[in-house]
Amino acid sequence: MRSLALPLALPSLVILAAACSGEAGGTDHEDPGGGGAFATGGGASVPTGGSGPADGTGGVVASGGTSGDMNTGGGGVPGGSGGAGDGGVTFECGLPALSAPVGDTSELLDVLTWAGKQGAISYTFDDGNSSQIDNYKTLNELGVPFTFYLVTNWSGAQDAIWQQALADGHEIGNHSHTHPNTGSGSDLDAATAYIEMKWGVRPLTMAAPYGDSSYPPLASSRFLFNRGVGGGSIAPGGAMNRHNLPTYIPPEGATKAQLDMGVSSAVSQGHWQTVTIHGFKGGSDSAYQPIPLDNFVAHVEGVRDGGLVWIGTLLDVGAYLIGQQLLAAAAPQVDGASSTWSWTLPDHYPAERCLRVRSSGRVFQDGMPIAKDPLGYYEIALDAGHVTVTTD
Ligand SMILES: [Zn+2]
Repeated sequence: MRSLALPLALPSLVILAAACSGEAGGTDHEDPGGGGAFATGGGASVPTGGSGPADGTGGVVASGGTSGDMNTGGGGVPGGSGGAGDGGVTFECGLPALSAPVGDTSELLDVLTWAGKQGAISYTFDDGNSSQIDNYKTLNELGVPFTFYLVTNWSGAQDAIWQQALADGHEIGNHSHTHPNTGSGSDLDAATAYIEMKWGVRPLTMAAPYGDSSYPPLASSRFLFNRGVGGGSIAPGGAMNRHNLPTYIPPEGATKAQLDMGVSSAVSQGHWQTVTIHGFKGGSDSAYQPIPLDNFVAHVEGVRDGGLVWIGTLLDVGAYLIGQQLLAAAAPQVDGASSTWSWTLPDHYPAERCLRVRSSGRVFQDGMPIAKDPLGYYEIALDAGHVTVTTD
């Protein structure tokens, strides 16, 4: 038998309203970098097996933890007196919904790459221009989260649409204040300050104007990620320069077929593809290499409906990948039938993030059993900094 002593450092337990898969709704204005409302992993809080939402015996829904410096949750107060019931703790993670069981593993701990999807795509929009603003409704209706990189000294950055975009679960990122060829810390910091002041979020990712090489060193002390403009995709297990991520930039007037082709090799290889789009045909402020909106919509619908790919903001997918790589690099500390992996999250890492894992044993964090999803995985809180698997 295992006693369930409540640890002092328990992640705050917060009962959240159930968020349905892919639903664009609700607000989470203080979620850094956006990503709030698209709780695509919301199935975690409402087991699909029909046992119903948290009721005191089926476990509780917890936020991912309290250690982040921008976390809006309380400071480590053990919340739910109902505690972890038979089903264990469930974290509200916002990971993409899966449609089939993940299968068993013989490993003590096996992180699901891209949360169990074959590959990942982050669609990013640079410059915040009129063709993005005017078409926001159509973009949002695709029901997948996007990342918008704003130039805060340009008029588009002032548009109230960005408040709506955050509420809808999209990410707002830093694309500098004045879009200089050669970046400066003060220019980037001015953009961050504007976004914090105007939209109430702190951007954790940026996109370098022109992909200039002056930006990666500036980004490394300020952001979790900087997206560059060089071609390529990101392998889950390979080396990654977080401050000069590669991307795919479709040519002006790209067809659906061209857009499909631009992401297909990454997906077939199980990689993460970032896509950089500057806008659509028909805007009033000369978007760079605009593409027809209809082609983009048809492309995203195809990827979305294919179901193989995690379409997520750059921050969401990137944060998952960092967590996955941290766990892969950690050697477990073994104590009898119990193995514990520990990690330290990097600077500018968002709070309340999770990894989706499989295990041949039973999974605990801070002495609390983690609920096993009906599809066979566990979602563990990265804020906890450690996870234990027992086999006794
Ligand atoms: Zn730009």
